[in-house]
Amino acid sequence: MFLRELEGLKENGLLREIKDRDRASPQGRLISIGKRHCLLNFASNDYLGLANHPAVVEAAKKALTEFGAGAGASRLLSGGTTLHKKLETALARFKGTGSALIFNSGYSLNTGLIPAVAAEGDALFSDELNHASIVDGCRLSRAKKHIYRHKDVGHLEELIKKSDARRKVVVTDAVFSMDGDIAPLNDLYALCKAEGAALYIDDAHGTGVTGKGKGTLKHFGLKPVPFVIEMGTLSKALGSFGAFLTGPKETVGWAVNNARCLIYSTALPPSPVGAALKALELVGTDGARIERLWANRDMLLSALQRLGLDTGESETPIIPVMLKDVQDALGMSRRLLAAGIYAPAIRPPTVKQPRLRLTVTASHTDEDIERLIRALNNKCRSKAT
Ligand SMILES: *Cc1c(COP(=O)(O)O)cnc(C)c1O
Repeated sequence: MFLRELEGLKENGLLREIKDRDRASPQGRLISIGKRHCLLNFASNDYLGLANHPAVVEAAKKALTEFGAGAGASRLLSGGTTLHKKLETALARFKGTGSALIFNSGYSLNTGLIPAVAAEGDALFSDELNHASIVDGCRLSRAKKHIYRHKDVGHLEELIKKSDARRKVVVTDAVFSMDGDIAPLNDLYALCKAEGAALYIDDAHGTGVTGKGKGTLKHFGLKPVPFVIEMGTLSKALGSFGAFLTGPKETVGWAVNNARCLIYSTALPPSPVGAALKALELVGTDGARIERLWANRDMLLSALQRLGLDTGESETPIIPVMLKDVQDALGMSRRLLAAGIYAPAIRPPTVKQPRLRLTVTASHTDEDIERLIRALNNKCRSKAT
């Protein structure tokens, strides 16, 4: 039934396939895919190398042994455990809020919580480059949607002032997932405060990374006040799976009563909860890991820029290398793979401009980064001549 459509995608270089991507190894700086072993990996969001950290794996095992494999029910029935509560207490303390609530994934949280905080008669204001889960959450909401130009606070202000909605909610990625730039949270915060709007922040890529690991609000020196609704994920720098909301008790109470993704879905199993709890502890105690991440990021970014590559507006360990078209991006990725380096091409519709999306982690060594730069340098040269 879909054969012709799939063939059309293939002809345009836009076909996505999982078959050549599944790992035969844990996540990390070196991974095995198919017959390729020890591929140098610049394509994971495991920024701190915690997904396969011995203490994190051990904590997951302990949770598994103590509480079993599956949660068996929604959190509102019998799916939660004392470990869930422990993680929520730790997350609330980590973020300096009164309360926290675990969700099953970042995607699920955004699609369920956004419709819960902005309903009929309300208005949503969303950055044009927000993550797909935010876009879908906005689509599921019955609120009126307004899309503002990327990080354009002036444009946003215009739209907010024109709206006569009862409740106004501004929603933004804190760190944009494909460009690695940071939302102007300080200006957004001031605007929302002045206009009496809520500010919904998705800090999926900031948690464990920005603000010395505390996240992007901290990066700007901003306090988590009641009009800020903040979510993060356990699936990126924390190396596990799942997501969380942090805020005052009443925001969490509202979510428990209205977020359909929480009410009508089985709770997160104990083992990722145990893993995330240990990872969060490591983020709090092992500052060297975060420093290493940023040192690696600075090293890679400046080397890419010395090569004359277009790295867009990156301000974080997510570094795009902008390329001319889809074939260019696919070709670059294939040639890197031949050199033992894994960095897939990102294409439309995920992004407008085709690119490599490089992510550097705390686990990479100086030699790893030099190897990537040498490979890119060879590719650029061989193309120019
Ligand atoms: C990855 C990501 C999500 C989704 O989180 P998952 O836990 O992987 O479902 C949501 N928002 C942003 C900005 C992301 O980058």
